[in-house]
Amino acid sequence: MATVGFIGLGNMGGPMAANLVKAGHRVTVFDLSEEALTQAEAAGCQRAKQLVEVCRDADFVISMLPADHHVEGVYLGEQGLQHRLDKSTLVIDCSTISAETARKLGAELAAAGIAFIDAPVSGGVGGAKAGTLTFICGGAESSVERAREVLNAMGKNVFRAGDAGAGQVAKICNNMLLSVLMAGTSEALQLGIAHGLDPQVLSEIMLQSSGRNWTLEVYNPCPGVMDTVPSSNGYQGGFMVDLMAKDLGLAQQAALRSGASTPMGSLTLNLYRSWAQLGHGREDFSSIFKYVTPATKK
Ligand code: NAD
Repeated sequence: MATVGFIGLGNMGGPMAANLVKAGHRVTVFDLSEEALTQAEAAGCQRAKQLVEVCRDADFVISMLPADHHVEGVYLGEQGLQHRLDKSTLVIDCSTISAETARKLGAELAAAGIAFIDAPVSGGVGGAKAGTLTFICGGAESSVERAREVLNAMGKNVFRAGDAGAGQVAKICNNMLLSVLMAGTSEALQLGIAHGLDPQVLSEIMLQSSGRNWTLEVYNPCPGVMDTVPSSNGYQGGFMVDLMAKDLGLAQQAALRSGASTPMGSLTLNLYRSWAQLGHGREDFSSIFKYVTPATKK
């Protein structure tokens, strides 16, 4: 049994912390949201009154925060946990942030004698609840091996992509592809619907044909095709449009730095940004289905 500090109890972090408790670990949690803390307590976590309390006796400190500045704010700077963590603690940041920030965090913690891995996840809220996430890690092999003790309680796959920051690079490649699949699947379903097809039947056909992909398998964007996905729940409770737009921005920054050509990623970034600007930023990213409604015949 490990002692774990957990920061960030949102759509992902809440169920991840609950799964650590189920596996027998002692988990102290911190979040800015009172509601999130109350839910975590009900799941068996101990509530920290202040951020710094997550460090106490911690074998691992895990964070699951929205974006770069949240992660930097928690660990770095005058008030950052880098000055409070014990050298025996392994820091695991599961947030999706830029590879640069992950490398900077790894270097600053290493300078203080503290081990760090970036471990962004794939699998969505469903995977977080079911404990079937995929962790895409960057960092020393020995640290990734050590992290398995807690990662295995929250997921079923642990990959090491390379050194610190490599997990983030692999993660944004995956999410750029996911955005293209989601937009394309939505467009195909809307086209079929506009021509009188039943989306359930069309989905089944494409699932057994060459258009098969993850969104059709487990995350259909058309309301009513699958019961337990965000599209059948008013596009609530999944992976927010704002967060997808953030990840696509990270992918484009990475493409600019390397000179890679990513026309599809650039297209989906603009789709998701404008969808967010139209007021859908807090909906699940499958809500892009509503944006790609084909024009009606004149
Ligand atoms: P979320 O917005 O639901 O949760 C973030 C939580 O962090 C909130 O509870 C918020 O109160 C808390 N928080 C913010 N600043 C804080 C601070 N300084 N101290 C303590 N708590 C703080 O986001 P989420 O959907 O859980 O996503 C978290 C991360 O996981 C993001 O980087 C996202 O890109 C990534 N991710 C999300 C999904 C998904 O399906 N939702 C899938 C894979 C990866």
